[in-house]
Amino acid sequence: MTAAVESVQTPNAARLPAGVVTGERYRTLVAACKSGGYALPAVNVTGTNSVNAVLEAAATAKADVVIQLSNGGARFFAGEGMKDEGTARALGAVAAARHVHLLAQHYGVCVVLHTDHANKKLVPWVERMLDFSEEEHNRTGKPLFSSHMLDLSEEPLEENLAICARILKRMAPMGMSLEIELGVTGGEEDGIGAEHDGADNAKLYTQPEDVAQAFKTLSMIGHFSVAASFGNVHGVYAPGNVKLRPEILKKSQDLVQAQFKTPAKPLNLVFHGGSGSEKDKISEAVSYGVFKMNIDTDTQFAFAQGVGKFVLENPKAFQHQIDPVDGKPYKKLYDPRKWLRLGEKSVVERLQEAFTDLGSKGKSLAG
Ligand SMILES: [Zn+2]
Repeated sequence: MTAAVESVQTPNAARLPAGVVTGERYRTLVAACKSGGYALPAVNVTGTNSVNAVLEAAATAKADVVIQLSNGGARFFAGEGMKDEGTARALGAVAAARHVHLLAQHYGVCVVLHTDHANKKLVPWVERMLDFSEEEHNRTGKPLFSSHMLDLSEEPLEENLAICARILKRMAPMGMSLEIELGVTGGEEDGIGAEHDGADNAKLYTQPEDVAQAFKTLSMIGHFSVAASFGNVHGVYAPGNVKLRPEILKKSQDLVQAQFKTPAKPLNLVFHGGSGSEKDKISEAVSYGVFKMNIDTDTQFAFAQGVGKFVLENPKAFQHQIDPVDGKPYKKLYDPRKWLRLGEKSVVERLQEAFTDLGSKGKSLAG
């Protein structure tokens, strides 16, 4: 008779090579977040300073991370002086992606490359980026981006899902994932969504039936995630303005699980408007299958604080090359590397808090 030995399984035993994850590796990372009960911060970037700060922050925290660009961030990456805005939006995103592909593995963490909100008029932006991913995939077997977002929450549900299905059909053969939005995230995102300030309250909470409809339409096509609205808003406002109701996420998971007879937490959920959110609501949302929380406003403020403090402490160095009274040269102070670095360091520090809040510190799958 042999005694029954209970096998002890290490959770998240999967290891991945450091660098940008796409396809099967992306899906492994998302699954590890959900089974491990943690989430990754998804940080909006606008240039190499913010990209490098996010990579440094992830390396410091020994955590994996999502680097994402809004269409405005992508345009800024290409340079606002570029005349054709549409081209700047596409090429800026591609330039940022190539920068991250080249450097990420040297920071020793896994990085998801993603683009943020694209409403109906920005669908062609996503399609232009897909042209680049297809070219990359033909050459290397991998797409340029891990995932893209389509935010068609302003359109009727049927149209939202029909366009998402069309785009996901193009992404799935490359192993790419699509983030969709159901319900309306309040506040302002890159100028888009500012009109949501007056959105009626019901729209700020996603209906679980809509999520089930999305699951039915998209799960047969490819990998997707859902930015569901549970009272979250973009930006940081006075306390009391936001009433987060993460239980809406649980209701969606439970409905889909029951209706489609799936394992627990079948949905990959995304938390938009993470800046300024209450910590216990963040933990609760993560426990319901949120694997990604967007953070932009708080890291923007962190960068500005790092730079602003230095400028306020050294005002003369930003007005004179040489001190008009004692002739002291200020070159070492106005050198952009001096003050941009302080912005980066401030972002690195702020993101440590985000990794801790989301439970992802020390959990990188890289190695
Ligand atoms: Zn958002």
